[in-house]
Amino acid sequence: MSDSEILDSVGTFLHRQLPPDEIKRRDAGHVPPYDLMPGMGELGLFALAVPEAEGGLGAAWKTIAQVQLKLGQHAYMVASIFNRVVGFGLMSVLNYGSAAQRRLLVPALMSGEAFCALALSEPQAGSDAGAIRTRAVRHGDGWRLNGRKSWISDALQARWLILPARTGEAHEGHRGISLFLVPTNSPGIAMTVLPKIGNNCMPSFDIGLQDVDLPADALLGEEGRGFAQLMSTLHYSRASMAATVTGASESAFQIALSHARERVQFNRPIGQNQAIAHRLADMRMRIDLSRLMVMHLAGLIDQSAPCRRESAQAKIIATETLRDVTDAGMQILASAGYSAESDMQRLWRDSRLYTFGEGTNEVMRDIVARELQLESGAGL
Ligand SMILES: Cc1cc2nc3c(=O)[nH]c(=O)nc-3n(C[C@H](O)[C@H](O)[C@H](O)COP(=O)(O)OP(=O)(O)OC[C@H]3O[C@@H](n4cnc5c(N)ncnc54)[C@H](O)[C@@H]3O)c2cc1C
Repeated sequence: MSDSEILDSVGTFLHRQLPPDEIKRRDAGHVPPYDLMPGMGELGLFALAVPEAEGGLGAAWKTIAQVQLKLGQHAYMVASIFNRVVGFGLMSVLNYGSAAQRRLLVPALMSGEAFCALALSEPQAGSDAGAIRTRAVRHGDGWRLNGRKSWISDALQARWLILPARTGEAHEGHRGISLFLVPTNSPGIAMTVLPKIGNNCMPSFDIGLQDVDLPADALLGEEGRGFAQLMSTLHYSRASMAATVTGASESAFQIALSHARERVQFNRPIGQNQAIAHRLADMRMRIDLSRLMVMHLAGLIDQSAPCRRESAQAKIIATETLRDVTDAGMQILASAGYSAESDMQRLWRDSRLYTFGEGTNEVMRDIVARELQLESGAGL
């Protein structure tokens, strides 16, 4: 299938399954789109990221990025679940899962039957992810987990948690961390939903882990290398977030543009005022830059080129573009945007998460700065 055929089928699916009223209904009722996942699986969307040798479609990341842009433009709720399956689940298991783990997870993830949530953050470990305290100790033939995770999105419905836990001593920092594949129905797991101000269709949970027993093969990858493994696949989730929020920016722009053409004040459309026209021009330029960065990064991923700096940059540029574009959009729509009925308010409200979610933009800037020193040969 060509990229345009894939994108057409995604468009048809979204218009049928998630018309505008349905998006509003789900947002107002906090109804996640988990029920749409088998349909997305049937379309082959999750298989795009899986190599042909593993039974997938082996698509280029440029194709995946275009799908993410389209999903994000239509409704972030569906883009976010796509990213969870691809960015965290499939990429982790494909990159460091054992043959048995790949046999178990890849078909389930690819079909949309199941997904994984990433359970990294803890109450005392947000940006400083190496400060996690959840501990896994050897117990019989397997492992026993104790600790607490917080703000874990979609955890209740996930079939597995990809969960970093400390297997070494605290003073070992990042090096004492291992990854585990934890079935969410394991005894000893208790989840409490966290009330929040946006992203209503992506519930987030506090998770208590008390004497959770896991078999030996729950270890994902190598013992003590969990942090390095996570870092080695983060560019996929940053690329995914950058693409989907760029899609959301496009949606905000289109709403603002239509409003500027249609809303008449002082006997002319408001878009004919330079103050509004320049705001729209700035929005357009920022979104185009963001899209270029997304596609540049996708090209690097396709070439297996180093892209630590570019993936951090793309995440910053795209999320700050969405934050600013939705803020400008709210100003252009004014009362029409402030209405609970408006799509702009949902985009604006939801956008506030992305400049700090999945790695704060301050941490992203640290990465960019560190990479600059590496490139110039200074500071090493
Ligand atoms: C809705 C939602 C969903 C989430 N989903 C998940 C999930 O599915 N899985 C998961 O594991 N986590 C999840 N998180 C957690 C998220 O990844 C963290 O919120 C994020 O990493 C930031 O951590 P924090 O909120 O503890 O902020 P903190 O780390 O406390 O940071 C607070 C502020 O200090 C700044 N700061 C901290 N250190 C530095 C520094 N060295 N230099 C400069 N500035 C610094 C930060 O940039 C930020 O501005 C979610 C969070 C939310 C709100």
